[in-house]
Amino acid sequence: MSNKEQTLSIIKPDAVERDLIEEIKNIFIQNKLAIKDSKKIHISKDEAADFYKVHQSKPFYNDLCSYLSSGPIVVMILEGENAISLNRKIMGATDPKNADENTIRKLYGISIDKNSVHGSDSQTNAKKEIDFFFKN
Ligand code: ADP
Ligand code: MG
Repeated sequence: MSNKEQTLSIIKPDAVERDLIEEIKNIFIQNKLAIKDSKKIHISKDEAADFYKVHQSKPFYNDLCSYLSSGPIVVMILEGENAISLNRKIMGATDPKNADENTIRKLYGISIDKNSVHGSDSQTNAKKEIDFFFKN
């Protein structure tokens, strides 16, 4: 049975800064994830704190919010069969050194914090995160 989904992807500052936008977009397209919408933005630290509020109790929260707001990012709506889990698979593990071969984080990630991409982890969060950047 078909299970078309949408998910939110972010190309983080470390990857935008290294001109990896087209390379990363091509990986999504090659893996049958269509880019339905895309915009390059530079968010404030308060917006980053709002976006990442599920992580507010974590010791790395403040650095994470500073980092996501440190430079331009590209936010995208990806659509395809099982897009949420497929995107997570294409991204690879959170820490690039644990990521599988040919995943985005293995190819381009620098460290656990500068790991090049974000991807929604569930249907609920995909909806919330798409709304966060693309509604109104
Ligand atoms: P993912 O991005 O793989 O879904 P999490 O949701 O657990 O990972 O964490 C959100 C982001 O916070 C990660 O992408 C990473 O940049 C950062 N992060 C996670 N764990 C750590 C950590 N132990 N130290 C520093 N940064 C971290
Ligand atoms: Mg996550």
